[in-house]
Amino acid sequence: MKGDTRYISVILPLKLEWEPCYRLPAEMNDVNSGDRVKVMFANKEYLAVVSETGIIPDTDPVKIKPVLSIEEGLGRILPQEITLWRNVADYYLCSVGEVYKAAYPHVRINLEEARAAAKEKIASREEKIADSIRKRIARLEAKVEKRQNMLSKARKESARLTYSKELESAIADLQRAKEALADILDKTSKNGLQRTSDYKDVTLSPAQALAYRKIWNGFEQEKPVMLKGVTGSGKTEIYIKSALECLNNGKNVLYLVPEIALSRQLEERLSEHFGDRLMTFHSGRTPAVRRDITESVREAAENGRPYILLGTRSSLFLPHSNLGLIVVDEEHDSSYKQDSPAPRYNGRDTALMMHKIHNCSIILGSATPSLEEMYNCQAGRHNLVELNERFHGAGEADIEIIDTKAERKKRGMTGNFSRKLIGHIKKTLARGEQVIILRSRRAWASVMQCENCGEIVKCPHCNVSLSRHNDGRMVCHYCGYTARFTGKCAKCGGELSSLGAGTQRIEEEASALFPEARIARLDSDTSKNRNVDTRIIHDFSHGEIDILIGTQMVTKGFDFGNLGLVAVVGADSLLGMQDFRADEKAFQLLEQFRGRCGRREQKGLFVIQTSQPDHPVYKKIMDNEGTEFNSHLLQERKDFNFPPYSRIIEICIKDRIEERVCRMAGKIGTIIRNSFSEGKIAIMNDPVTGPFSPAVDKVADQHIRCIRISLRKDRSLSGRKGTLKNMVRDFEKVNHYEGHITINVDPS
Ligand code: ADP
Ligand code: ZN
Repeated sequence: MKGDTRYISVILPLKLEWEPCYRLPAEMNDVNSGDRVKVMFANKEYLAVVSETGIIPDTDPVKIKPVLSIEEGLGRILPQEITLWRNVADYYLCSVGEVYKAAYPHVRINLEEARAAAKEKIASREEKIADSIRKRIARLEAKVEKRQNMLSKARKESARLTYSKELESAIADLQRAKEALADILDKTSKNGLQRTSDYKDVTLSPAQALAYRKIWNGFEQEKPVMLKGVTGSGKTEIYIKSALECLNNGKNVLYLVPEIALSRQLEERLSEHFGDRLMTFHSGRTPAVRRDITESVREAAENGRPYILLGTRSSLFLPHSNLGLIVVDEEHDSSYKQDSPAPRYNGRDTALMMHKIHNCSIILGSATPSLEEMYNCQAGRHNLVELNERFHGAGEADIEIIDTKAERKKRGMTGNFSRKLIGHIKKTLARGEQVIILRSRRAWASVMQCENCGEIVKCPHCNVSLSRHNDGRMVCHYCGYTARFTGKCAKCGGELSSLGAGTQRIEEEASALFPEARIARLDSDTSKNRNVDTRIIHDFSHGEIDILIGTQMVTKGFDFGNLGLVAVVGADSLLGMQDFRADEKAFQLLEQFRGRCGRREQKGLFVIQTSQPDHPVYKKIMDNEGTEFNSHLLQERKDFNFPPYSRIIEICIKDRIEERVCRMAGKIGTIIRNSFSEGKIAIMNDPVTGPFSPAVDKVADQHIRCIRISLRKDRSLSGRKGTLKNMVRDFEKVNHYEGHITINVDPS
């Protein structure tokens, strides 16, 4: 049909439910699905992705706008990427464009620059390697020449023998260097750096080897594998071994972690094994580096050099192809979930989508699997592989629970430290071992209250109390609002007393109690600067810090060999959450923290200071009944129809005007309830809760109301989700209320 006008549909980086149609001007080249084009939409220019070509427009052709240009310099988006966007949009009830925008956030920057920078970066990196090899070749050539000279001049037989041996080995080195250079220059070479000898192998212990075989059995059945292994059992070694296997087969590996800040140690460990085949990707990297990595991933597909990519959830959206394996490390971690902006996706579940799309293996690992995973294993959808033996053979840390209420009565508390804990810390330090103290709140104090009128100092923009910091500021931890701490109540002028000690205060108290010890703190205040973080972790692992105090960050992923004691101060704040997941999360956190301790040959001690010593969470940790605890929680979830037995969707309405947020929430609540509470066959509880005010119901001058819908997991699920999405969209349109409502599937 030559000569006919060509029409295409595109995906725009917007919250847009349809894919608009454009005309390709006659003089323009043809395009394919996945190509990027510049188009005008609502008077703005966008970089769009071609979703379909050769379409027949259903609107008046005269009204269809032309494509402005084809961005040929940008790599083509792969079909698997678009499939993933569609799956994510479907599941998380957002638009495909929103996923595209998350996947390619740099579309907003100057395109010309982007192209030039991407080209240059790649060229320069390859060039750098090539350059260093060239220098080596020059050195080796000089060496060969010298040895040849010496050999020809040598008289003694013994000297001749030495020189000829040296000459031989120099020639061999030179040959290898030349081959390496050829590999770099010949990017299309399929056999680039795929040889086993390029990677450092691992030797598994018998228990690990058994788990490894079971894992690969699972892979062969094309089932996701859940590796449940106590901390220190060598899960990471098994991931590395599996990744090696993939890379040796020329396949790529995606290694997901919940947070990159804490993965420095892991990064070092992986780079030891994979060298320059390791790339690290996360949203904290500069746009230029992210682009660079995106292009490297795309290129790897073309030049056949396999990579292992270590990254956070956003690395799921890189242009992966030829994937052999996805590792989801610490799969239970709620940091995998993105709460804002859309797509509000969970990295773990999205990785499972990837596994289907790419038909690759996937391994989820944790010492404390999520209930969702336990449920998947019970149902036989995933293969459970257990590894209950620590590599270095040390037992799990002993646990001591200290009742702070009882201690206080006995005058056994100095500030936030009990006499017993102080004793344990002293003993540990005397043995030359290290201590980590967990306090779940940062700052100096989390609440300030007037001793005279009882007024609590609140953020003027949020419905939360301000936190007092040790630098004389009062800070809102939600919106960042800051004011000076005067110590006086703004209402009546009375004295303010500080309640709820945070990490800064614990640090202060520890400095007074243990004046000889070297003490450091790790929380989101210190980690604003990544260098500080890295330095603290480095110093601690090299024994240059004795006591490390921090928030949840200190419970995750570190492997310190000399840790004799871990302690939680004020553990009650871990339990207090009004959330059906609270116990599960507290258990995971405490168990993870315990696992940090005594990781080598030695058994450590885990101290919990709490005013609720009888709480079931502690009991279960004491009794080491993790598995039974999980089945107990699972039963509870089943009884109350909570996830994983149902799917929860949360609708949030935000508005600067309180009256309007209440009115709108009430209105949409009624619409949803009318539709979803009908015919509640076999549902115990009302599937719709709310509208209700969340625990923090005003943030940054936005009032918040929520509605929770719990949907049964059956065939009707996806249809009902779709209905809900349309209901919200219609409501927004009819009431001209765009931009206020968010939908969150599987809220964390
Ligand atoms: P996990 O990931 O389960 O917490 P790791 O893989 O970090 O466990 O292993 C714990 C420690 O034991 C690490 O210091 C690691 O180097 C060591 N280790 C585990 N397995 C092996 C092995 N097969 N060979 C050598 N060291 C090992
Ligand atoms: Zn605030």
